[in-house]
Amino acid sequence: MAGVLVFGDTVGGALAPASLEMAVAGAALAQALNEPLTGALIGDDLAAVAAEFNGGFATLHLIEGKHLRPYTARSAIAAAKAAIDAAAPSVVLFPHTLETREWVPRLAAMLDTGLVMDCTALNAEGSDLVVSKPVYGGGVTAQYVVRGNIRLVTVRTGVFEARAGAATGAVNKIAAVEPAAGRVTLIDEAKAAAASGVRLKDAKVIVSGGRGLGGPANWHYIEETAAAIGGAVGCSRPVADSGWVSSAHQVGLSGTSVKPDLYIAVGISGAVQHLAGISNSSTVVAINLDGDADMFTRANYGVVGDYKDVLPGFIERAKQLRG
Ligand SMILES: Cc1cc2nc3c(=O)[nH]c(=O)nc-3n(C[C@H](O)[C@H](O)[C@H](O)COP(=O)(O)OP(=O)(O)OC[C@H]3O[C@@H](n4cnc5c(N)ncnc54)[C@H](O)[C@@H]3O)c2cc1C
Repeated sequence: MAGVLVFGDTVGGALAPASLEMAVAGAALAQALNEPLTGALIGDDLAAVAAEFNGGFATLHLIEGKHLRPYTARSAIAAAKAAIDAAAPSVVLFPHTLETREWVPRLAAMLDTGLVMDCTALNAEGSDLVVSKPVYGGGVTAQYVVRGNIRLVTVRTGVFEARAGAATGAVNKIAAVEPAAGRVTLIDEAKAAAASGVRLKDAKVIVSGGRGLGGPANWHYIEETAAAIGGAVGCSRPVADSGWVSSAHQVGLSGTSVKPDLYIAVGISGAVQHLAGISNSSTVVAINLDGDADMFTRANYGVVGDYKDVLPGFIERAKQLRG
């Protein structure tokens, strides 16, 4: 077993941005371990996606099969196993997504090997793989040595800078074998309504609202502010839990980790679980009634005041500046 195998991801038939982040993380690790870097993609009709997945791989393994879309955990596990058998790696990286959260632990159990999930840093110490991840609500960063012949790691998205590497050396197509029917049968797929506006994960500007907004009737303040500056809409967990907006907008430990140039937090207290999701933001602005709110410890700029007094003037001025 030698080499670092990096799994990419697809969304709606296109390469997910997290794929090249994994390639960057994998390349650094492969160099530190002095082992080759290989890639893998699972799906149906991968030719176009594979051409974009330039991670500097010696070999890119494509595991294709009609049964692989829509996704089921059983099929993903069987396909990943086929790629691992072909690449014989010592380390395997996956983007930490809703899907990998479901099937990678099962793959680790099947391979009887070590797995650490949602990691934010990967280091080689001799032949040891030492990974870091936030624990206890993001208040502490823990380090783990991953054990096993094939060490599995899911990597938090938005942490590594996505960058294309050298062109792929060779492509290895593997026809995925459909696993025998399991206890779950997919009978239909219903698409969730597409979230309007800019995708939270990729957004350069985010306006986020918290419980301090007071109720769903006031949520238009956040949407109008985001629209005025071309930003995406985010929220804290109580806002999503209360159904003011969909949980797709939730930022934080149990929501999305974001990496914008500008993050404006309105009526958000700044709990560690929220701050864990914005730690990679470049500039944070807090608007809060309470000058002692923890959000001000992370904010680069802050306004102590009622958002209802602050935002209308801001929206007006932003509209003027954007013409
Ligand atoms: C395991 C776990 C995971 C979690 N994951 C997440 C997560 O992913 N994301 C997340 O956000 N939370 C998460 N939480 C919850 C977290 O601990 C906090 O409860 C939550 O972030 C608080 O949300 P909030 O700031 O909107 O509300 P509050 O803490 O109630 O804060 C509201 C703020 O609004 C201010 N305010 C009130 N009125 C106004 C006004 N008129 N103008 C301006 N400011 C005003 C108040 O001063 C206050 O600071 C998690 C908790 C646990 C235990």
